Amino acid sequence: MKNKIKKINSLLIKFFGKPKRSKKLPNPVDALVGTILSQNTNDNNSYKAYQNLKGEFKSWEEVAALPRQKIEKLIKVGGLGKQKSKAIKNVLNGLKKIRGKISLDYLKKLDDESVINELIMFDGVGVKTASCVLLFSMDRDICPVDTHVHRTLNRIGIVKTTSPDKTFNEILGNIPDDSAHTFHTNLIRLGREVCKSSKPNCSICPVEKICTYKSKNFDGNAKYRKNDFMLLDNIR
Ligand code: SF4
Repeated sequence: MKNKIKKINSLLIKFFGKPKRSKKLPNPVDALVGTILSQNTNDNNSYKAYQNLKGEFKSWEEVAALPRQKIEKLIKVGGLGKQKSKAIKNVLNGLKKIRGKISLDYLKKLDDESVINELIMFDGVGVKTASCVLLFSMDRDICPVDTHVHRTLNRIGIVKTTSPDKTFNEILGNIPDDSAHTFHTNLIRLGREVCKSSKPNCSICPVEKICTYKSKNFDGNAKYRKNDFMLLDNIR
């Protein structure tokens, strides 16, 4: 699996380039809230929701003290406001109660698995969200698996799994060193722009030659357009 992933990673880099990383790592609490807000929406809306919330208050302590309904109103643009506001309030107040302050700095000395186990104890935080915190705010070499990463890896034939969390466990330890950020980001681009859920555009796909998907779609009219979308790093 490691060799196949290495090959796919290099084909994706040739096609999409190597994604840029922000030089300054975001605070892990900012990254955690940003990732909760990014669930089931696009980057623009989750960024707006984050700005509505973070821009209005001086600290996460102030946000934690708000009624849940107020948070829901502020983040409405990102969708799933009730669910996300519950998760955010739960994390912020949980940290305050358990650790005495709203900070995740204590995670920095833990290994990846322990960080994930700590974070998924909070209601509304799953393995994908926890691994995004590791990758984007702690600079760990770990590949979060969202719906795009899960779909593309299954179609290509790297895994045969029924959920993103199962895909995450399968590929863990099989990503070439220092490649997780690039692999994750480029697979999301592949899933959003080429290997779309309803209609993959196999005629322009950079991994078509090694992809084993049985229902490949070769629509001669389909063209690749470089989307000017915001990379995940920009919201975390
Ligand atoms: S060849 Fe088609 S099915 Fe396979 S990864 Fe590319 S777009 Fe998806």
